Amino acid sequence: MRGSLICLIAAALAGLTSIVQGAYVPADPWDDGRSGLGAVTEGIVGPAHTEEAAVIYVSNDDWFTLPPLNYIPPPYHRDALEGVRICLDPGHAGGVIREDGRISEAIMNLEVALMLREFLQASGAEVVMTRETGEDTPNEGNLEWRARLADRENCDFFISIHQNATRRESANYISVWYHSRPDHPCAANDLARWVTVELHRLLRHHEPQHAGLYSSWLMYPPRGLADGYRHDTTEGLPSGFGVLRSLRVPGILIEGAFQSHPEGAQQLRDREYLRRMAWGLYTGILNYVWAGIPSIALHEDQTEVVEGPRPEIHLSLDDGMHERWARNAPPRIHFETLRVYIDDERATLRYRPQTAEIFATPGEDLAPGEHTVRLRVLNVWGNWSWPTEIPFTVGGT
Ligand SMILES: [Zn+2]
Repeated sequence: MRGSLICLIAAALAGLTSIVQGAYVPADPWDDGRSGLGAVTEGIVGPAHTEEAAVIYVSNDDWFTLPPLNYIPPPYHRDALEGVRICLDPGHAGGVIREDGRISEAIMNLEVALMLREFLQASGAEVVMTRETGEDTPNEGNLEWRARLADRENCDFFISIHQNATRRESANYISVWYHSRPDHPCAANDLARWVTVELHRLLRHHEPQHAGLYSSWLMYPPRGLADGYRHDTTEGLPSGFGVLRSLRVPGILIEGAFQSHPEGAQQLRDREYLRRMAWGLYTGILNYVWAGIPSIALHEDQTEVVEGPRPEIHLSLDDGMHERWARNAPPRIHFETLRVYIDDERATLRYRPQTAEIFATPGEDLAPGEHTVRLRVLNVWGNWSWPTEIPFTVGGT
């Protein structure tokens, strides 16, 4: 493994390989995204100047030394989760501590969730739990009940905590799952990404090359379909993990480590390791929220009742981001992703970045009555807006 890594780095130093195919085009701040690939730019690749330096650079023995943690939140976490309501779901229930000292997954999951709740509450979040004890509850096996608790309790998002196991003893990596077709970016995917990065950094698994975020469709593709990625033909068919499938809010399921891995199993019996896992979840969640969730609201000049049949809805756009000094700048969004839907149909837009105003017109006449408007956009921290709907009424009934 190490030999091949050195070869790869040496080859990279010699300019022979590249992660992405194609010639590099220097960034042009005024590029409208239509210029495509242009001139070839030569550049220096990698931090090392010699092959010996590269050898030191790729020496990975230190990977298994867990980075020290003091469990003190950085100052930017203060109040970062004020007003955020999170549903935690410690997977399974009715866990037991066996005589040989082995504990069941349900207990590990509960330990992590209870410590995570403590950290989240310290940053101002409200936390709802699907269970708080190791005892069986009437709904313990009801995944839909667990998922719907997040709606009933008006939570913003949902986190299900599990530990993995498999027949292959050497398997040990982190996996974070979201429910969506694998090629469809969504809010749950964003949350999964921030959490994966933090858990990966802190837990140092034995197979870091496998660590990652996955659509639960990859594990359980839609039934009866050879190509599990075709969203359009699968409506109504179950796919992915039951608990994620039943969610209406963004949600993820994490598999922290493998109980079937000899050293992983030992680590999972260590409360300190579970606390580390809780901390990784905590900082991942915080970084996700801190990066902001873009949203729209009816503009203050916009009345809730509008004249039909083809109204122009006046909206205010918020990039959701936290920095204060640039608050008066245009919203920091990826403009090419900006879309607004009226009743699930894409609307025609006029956008005024200087004042963060959007004017959205439906493609077809709207009947008198209730309608909804919804945003879809990516901010520059890489977070998608949530699929929430804002109601308005077309008058004239
Ligand atoms: Zn589980």
